Amino acid sequence: GKRAFIAGVADDNGYGWAIAKALAAAGAEILVGTWVPALNIFESSLRRGKFDISRILPDGSMMEITKVYPLDAVFDNPDDVPEDIKTNKRYAGSSKWTVQEVAESVKEDFGSIDILVHSLANGPEVTKPLLETSRNGYLAAISASSYSYVSLLKHFLPILNPGGSSISLTYIASERIIPGYGGGMSSAKAALESDTRVLAFEAGRKRKIRVNTISAGPLRSRAAKAIGF
Ligand code: NAD
Repeated sequence: GKRAFIAGVADDNGYGWAIAKALAAAGAEILVGTWVPALNIFESSLRRGKFDISRILPDGSMMEITKVYPLDAVFDNPDDVPEDIKTNKRYAGSSKWTVQEVAESVKEDFGSIDILVHSLANGPEVTKPLLETSRNGYLAAISASSYSYVSLLKHFLPILNPGGSSISLTYIASERIIPGYGGGMSSAKAALESDTRVLAFEAGRKRKIRVNTISAGPLRSRAAKAIGF
């Protein structure tokens, strides 16, 4: 069977969860990366059976998540982490959650994976029009929503089995104006789409890994509700 790592699952409402279920139904082993601030709620909800109905697969069995890794995809390694985050209560309670450390942990635990899914995005100023977006807000959107994918693929590439594949999720606001999708999020998706072509070329040559992005339709996930979609 194949093994998949899905970054960006913190409840049962988003695309990451749905992709995990589809992969589980197809027989894949499921590992997930969960944003550190959301980790406790996600793990306790899983344990207490809050997602049990959502875990039911078409054949009646339940999706098993083999392991949940804490992840913050805006940090590549411990040197990148500023002091206020290091000492933040939610972050101090977990360890090894930078991209490089998560890839190392997955390597230690399982050796390799076949499928890498990036289902995460964040834009602190997403509710602001681009004209009112600050430099920091714009760069934060790009960091969490675009570079996070470059970094994930870079660090997981050595443990992605040749012939494997990687996908991310994009949105049509990259190519057409969608009012309300602000804060540089439209820019971040345009970058993600361009990077997909370049990374497909590079990762394809380097390790025979396919790289694609899916432009998903609107879904009332937690992230989408936060911007009133
Ligand atoms: P979601 O809230 O289920 O998923 C986003 C996840 O990103 C959350 O679990 C959040 O905890 C995580 N996250 C945020 N910052 C992070 C960080 N720094 N490190 C690690 N994880 C982080 O919402 P979703 O809408 O399913 O989003 C998944 C993907 O689908 C995103 O790329 C989003 O842009 C894309 N998408 C969504 C829609 C939609 O309408 N919902 C449409 C097209 C594309």
